[in-house]
Amino acid sequence: MTIDKILNDAKSEKLLNKEEAIALLNVKNNSSDFYKIISLANEMTRSEFNNKAFIFAQIGLNAEPCPVNCKFCSMGKNHYTMESTWRKDINSILSETKAIVNEGINDLFLMTTADYPINDFLNIARNVRSILPDNIRLVANIGDFDYVTALKLKEVGFTGAYHIKRLREGIDTTIKPETRIETLNSIKKAGLELYYCVEPIGPEHSYEEIVDEMLRARDYNVGVMAAMRRIPVKGTPLYEKGQISSVELSKIAAVTRIVTRPHRAMNAHETIQMSLICGVNQLYAEAGANPRDSISNTEKSRGLSVKNIKKLFEDAEYEISRDY
Ligand code: SF4
Repeated sequence: MTIDKILNDAKSEKLLNKEEAIALLNVKNNSSDFYKIISLANEMTRSEFNNKAFIFAQIGLNAEPCPVNCKFCSMGKNHYTMESTWRKDINSILSETKAIVNEGINDLFLMTTADYPINDFLNIARNVRSILPDNIRLVANIGDFDYVTALKLKEVGFTGAYHIKRLREGIDTTIKPETRIETLNSIKKAGLELYYCVEPIGPEHSYEEIVDEMLRARDYNVGVMAAMRRIPVKGTPLYEKGQISSVELSKIAAVTRIVTRPHRAMNAHETIQMSLICGVNQLYAEAGANPRDSISNTEKSRGLSVKNIKKLFEDAEYEISRDY
C-alpha cells in the first residue's frame, strides 16, 4: 500500500487502520511523503475547523511529591526535582483564574498530583466555576477516579476531564493500565468530555505503541486530541533517554490528527511553532506546577502565556476562536 493511497483514503474520510497509521509514521522525516502528510493534516484542520484556533489554560494547583512516581515527572516522590513544595490557596486560584480568563481563553484546566484530596479539589472547582463565564469549559486533570466521583465532578461544574493511558503505563508509572481505562470509561459514562493525548513520547517508544493510543482516542470519539513529547527533566529516571526532535513531534501530531480525526481541535505539546502548519490548532498556556518543569511556577519558566499563544496563532494565520 502506497502513502498516496493511504492519504487519499484518509481524505475521503475512510478511517485508517493500525497498519496504515504505522506506515504513515514510518515515512522518513523531510522526504516528499513527509510533506504530503503535513499538507493533508494542515488542510484537514484548516478546512474542518474553519481556520479557527483555540487557547486553553492550565493551572497546576500543587507542587508536592506524588506517590505515583512517574519516571518522567518532576513531582515523582522518589526523585522530586522541584525547588519547593506548596499548595495554592483558594484566593490565589481565584485571582489567577480571573486574570487568565480576562486574557481570553476557551477552556480552563485544573491540575493536581494524583493523591490531592478530592473533596478539597471539588470545593475549589465549585468556587472557580462560580466566577467562570458560562461559555468557558472547565476540565479536570487529576488522578484516577470512579464513576461516582465523575458524577461529582460534573455536578460541581466540570464539563470534561483530561485523562489518558500513558505510554508504558505500569512500567514507567506505578498505575495499572486497567485503572486508567476504568477512569476513561467513568468519564464517558458520566457524560464528561474526554480530552486525550499520546504521551509522553520519547525516543524509545515504537510507532506501534504510539498508534495504539491514537486508535484508543478514536474509539472514545474524542473532540480534542494531542501528541506530547517527553521533556527530559534533570533528576528524573528517564532523563538520560533524551527527547524526540521537533520535526518528529510535528510528524506524529500530523499523523495523529489524520488517524484520530478529533472533531474540535488538535494540539501538540510542549508548543513548537512548526506544528501549526501540521494540523495543530490548539495550544496551552500554563501556570503553577508542571510535571515537565523543575521550576514550580512554570509561568516563570517553560509555561507560555495566553499572550504568547495569541502571537503564535496570528503568525500561523489562524483566527482565534470565539465560538465556545
Ligand atoms: S505525572 Fe502525575 S501521576 Fe505521575 S508522578 Fe507526576 S503528578 Fe503524579
